[in-house]
Amino acid sequence: METSIEYDVAVLGGGAAGCATALALQQNGISKILVVESGRYEAIRVGESIPPDTRILLKKLGILADFLKENHETCLGSCSSWGDDGLGYNDFLFNPHGNGWHLDRRRFEAFLARKVIESGVELRTGTKFEKGESIGSKGFQLQLRGDNQETELVDARFVVDATGMRSCFARNWGARRLFLDRLIFAIAFFELSASSNFSNLTMLEAVEYGWWYAAKLPKRRLVTAVASEPAIIKQTTLNRSDNWLAHLKKTNHISRELVGCHLIEDSLLICAAPSFLLNHTAGNGWLAVGDAASTYDPISSQGIYKALSDSLQAAKVIAAYLSGDTQSLSEYQSSITTRFDNYLQNRNYFYQLEKRWSTSRFWKRRQERVGLI
Ligand SMILES: Cc1cc2nc3c(=O)[nH]c(=O)nc-3n(C[C@H](O)[C@H](O)[C@H](O)COP(=O)(O)OP(=O)(O)OC[C@H]3O[C@@H](n4cnc5c(N)ncnc54)[C@H](O)[C@@H]3O)c2cc1C
Repeated sequence: METSIEYDVAVLGGGAAGCATALALQQNGISKILVVESGRYEAIRVGESIPPDTRILLKKLGILADFLKENHETCLGSCSSWGDDGLGYNDFLFNPHGNGWHLDRRRFEAFLARKVIESGVELRTGTKFEKGESIGSKGFQLQLRGDNQETELVDARFVVDATGMRSCFARNWGARRLFLDRLIFAIAFFELSASSNFSNLTMLEAVEYGWWYAAKLPKRRLVTAVASEPAIIKQTTLNRSDNWLAHLKKTNHISRELVGCHLIEDSLLICAAPSFLLNHTAGNGWLAVGDAASTYDPISSQGIYKALSDSLQAAKVIAAYLSGDTQSLSEYQSSITTRFDNYLQNRNYFYQLEKRWSTSRFWKRRQERVGLI
């Protein structure tokens, strides 16, 4: 094992939150930054819709112009069958920030990583954070493991946990995830037929056992997913392609839009999408950003926006902390909690709108007033 290399800040995880934090740290005058990413931006990533005001955050990060050149699919709003059998529309026509986007997630994260490297930050892919130890006032010593299984130690005055919903560093440091919900998604991808004119709206459709969504992606692809509870997914075998497709065919609206589209074989993915808040989102010399700090139900389409906005705030807090202002960490914690409370209100309101299936286990559970456990 090699001896330590020293950094001002080590960012663990190079997803949206990690990359944005690194860019924002640079803007705040911190230059010795290491980003550690276990993947190589090759695997499929899910979660594609971002709202129009994400534009403001991308601008603050100095990457809006280049992002626009990436030509992700335009999102013009949503249409949903939620609360009744008809379709309701919520478009971005009058939104002062214009349209949102349906991202090719793999390409979006690879773009962010490229921007991080171009800004002069060291980003190591194929490298996993394993554990961290305090080295007192000097910060933390982190153990990293590369794809070649070799371990390495690095020292960092400050650590950012951006490892997503696993919250690897924070949990290593004793923080706990307080869960509100544990949805599971069964997701598959389609190729749009030449005749398909699937709109640029995100489609949502509530069903007795959960809800479906569909969104058009770049390169004439479409993502379609069903959200439900683990037990329901298992019971209805929605985790099997044939059954997933059979249930999709029974939807009233989404199935109609998919006529003539081809399911991309073997594309069914099963993903956990929990809602949780860490009991501690920051401590001496560390903080968590994005999904590592809190995860929201994908119904909100706020995960990426939240990752970017946490990052902008986190970078200011870290710069202040490294200059001796330790109070800023607790302000950061409070703002993550306040935002989670606001999200909770919106999420509860949205689930309360659906009254068609009073005996459905899925809807009953989402409509109960449960606290974090
Ligand atoms: C089914 C589903 C649908 C969604 N839909 C939407 C949507 O429409 N709109 C939206 O805004 N959000 C959506 N989300 C949420 C969104 O994907 C997340 O909020 C967002 O990815 C959070 O970014 P992040 O960088 O915090 O975490 P992640 O994207 O999870 O990134 C974490 C990174 O850390 C790396 N990592 C993990 N552990 C380690 C380790 N030990 N060492 C080094 N690296 C590590 C991972 O490889 C990953 O690159 C959806 C989520 C799901 C599950």
